[in-house]
Amino acid sequence: MNGFEIVDARFRAYVLSNAPLEKLAEGFRWTEGPVWFADLRMLLFSDIPNDRVMRWTDRGGVEVFREPAGYENGHTRDLEGRLVACSHGERCVRRIEHDGRVTVLAERYRGRRLNSPNDVVVKSDGSVWFSDPLYGIASDYEGMRAASETPPAVYRIDAASGELTCVADDFEGPNGLCFSPDEKRLYVSETGRPCDDNAARHIRVFDVSADGQRLANGRIFHEVEPPAADGMRVDEDGNVWSSAGDGVHCIAPSGDLLGKVLVPSTVANVAFGGSMRNRLFICASRSLYAIYLNRRGIQRP
Ligand code: MG
Repeated sequence: MNGFEIVDARFRAYVLSNAPLEKLAEGFRWTEGPVWFADLRMLLFSDIPNDRVMRWTDRGGVEVFREPAGYENGHTRDLEGRLVACSHGERCVRRIEHDGRVTVLAERYRGRRLNSPNDVVVKSDGSVWFSDPLYGIASDYEGMRAASETPPAVYRIDAASGELTCVADDFEGPNGLCFSPDEKRLYVSETGRPCDDNAARHIRVFDVSADGQRLANGRIFHEVEPPAADGMRVDEDGNVWSSAGDGVHCIAPSGDLLGKVLVPSTVANVAFGGSMRNRLFICASRSLYAIYLNRRGIQRP
């Protein structure tokens, strides 16, 4: 099938044989952090080394949304539709209020600065979960080179108290993350230590505790080949659509690879959007792509 690689026959139901991979824009340095605003029919995404956040709309194409942007990486929206951003440059997770003011949600853990928050998701209880690897402080390219004060980890910010809790600290480089549709699982990609080709690279899955505040039973969910897994999203059937070295991989909840959307350059992150939430936006190295799928994504609000 043109533009797809069918690994498992089940994948045929998820793709549209006549829907092409479309290149929407190019000329960036490294695209990341896509987030869809259904109410505004726009996509925001990061161009990290250029220190800017871009906006794309069907009618207007691509334009600069904010520059400089604190070397923002991952984005999502909270239950009120406010933008939540990971900033490498400011080494924080922050929220943009409806009036444009900025609220820092997390910048220190036990008094020490975070490394460079990478990707973020909001759970249905309003809690904010994010990864904090070293990539944004490892060089002056996607942030500012600096010493690490805290180990790489995954954190949770409580919606009511704002308290920051470490929920997983046995990662070398926690990166993209997303919940299963029922929020009983959290997927987190492990992309290893900076500049280490032999570092571990896979997607891990955790069970979320009944109170929704802790993780348990961490295990390898899927080895992405060719690497590396980075950002990912789930569809309404619970399939994980993960970034990969050769495109976007669709992985069943069992961990089986179902198939691939083939993309000409390494993919860093994805987001479902469009009026039916069945359009997958793909941040792939220096370009932005999109493709219509035969499934809808899970994305709040
Ligand atoms: Mg990432």
